[in-house]
Amino acid sequence: MKTPVTVLGLGAMGTALAQAFLAAGHPTTVWNRTPGRSPELTDAVRASTVAEAVAASPLVIVCLLVDTTVHDALEGVDLTGKVIANLTNSTPDQARALEATLAGATYLDGGIMAVPAMIGGPHAFILYSGDSAAFERHQADLAVLARPLYVGADAGLAALYDIALLSAMYGMFGGAEHALALMHSAKIPAVEFTEQLLVPWLTAMLGSLPRIAADLDNPSQAAAAGSNLAMQAAAFHNLIDTAVAQGVDPSLLTPMGELLQKAVATGHGDEDMAATIRLLKTNV
Ligand code: NDP
Repeated sequence: MKTPVTVLGLGAMGTALAQAFLAAGHPTTVWNRTPGRSPELTDAVRASTVAEAVAASPLVIVCLLVDTTVHDALEGVDLTGKVIANLTNSTPDQARALEATLAGATYLDGGIMAVPAMIGGPHAFILYSGDSAAFERHQADLAVLARPLYVGADAGLAALYDIALLSAMYGMFGGAEHALALMHSAKIPAVEFTEQLLVPWLTAMLGSLPRIAADLDNPSQAAAAGSNLAMQAAAFHNLIDTAVAQGVDPSLLTPMGELLQKAVATGHGDEDMAATIRLLKTNV
């Protein structure tokens, strides 16, 4: 028999997780604060309390809104012997603090790198950190949801990786949104611009990231910069001036211009983007 699993939380994501477990033949128990959610989960056992849901399975997936919701839901519940895999979005500190409160249970923290429609599909992956033995024991069960990637024993690591990837996504979307606002200000059709120019351009530029990362890891072997920071800083005000002239708020872009100026002012004008990454660190 497949491992029985429990899913706490039937929001958009929790429902997709429960569906994937059911589709793979796992006996699946679900709990949600508001009863009656996701009626399509006809094969799931519905628990009326968190305690009843937790008692039903050795592996308990938690997918609630935020960290405080998880603490509230699990408070006072006997978790002895259970593996708690918390896929609720959290910070590294929240993950470590939650692990410390779960008496008698082993903890895996997870970061879901997918939207609900991707769960169970080939492109979704979930980052895990925490108890390595629990991860190994349940790796095949967790693989039903998405490709499982274990990133380390420190429970906070999955959240750190997750937040890093989300930060990159929001930065990229911020730039793309600004670009679309510029096009929209001139009544240029957004779809054509996006499909024919924006996506190919971003895709091509992403190709430079591994070289920037290599420079960060090994500064002594940094390759000569083809687009040095002094050149980029000198041209950056054109981005701001154009936004203002087009009636577009430049505030998503201005911090990048300030960072380039700082790099030049501190003697890094002939270097590449890795220099700006070092300048972002505030605790050195
Ligand atoms: P939803 O808003 O769809 O669902 C929220 C869930 O949390 C519901 O089950 C809700 O129960 C429950 N909840 C909220 N407040 C409380 C509370 N005080 N006590 C008990 N239960 C509560 O969110 P998602 O399912 O989309 O997201 C769940 C988690 O997954 C979040 O941490 C999110 O960041 C993460 N995630 C989501 C992704 C997405 O694309 N959706 C992608 C990656 C991660 P009720 O039905 O009673 O309101």
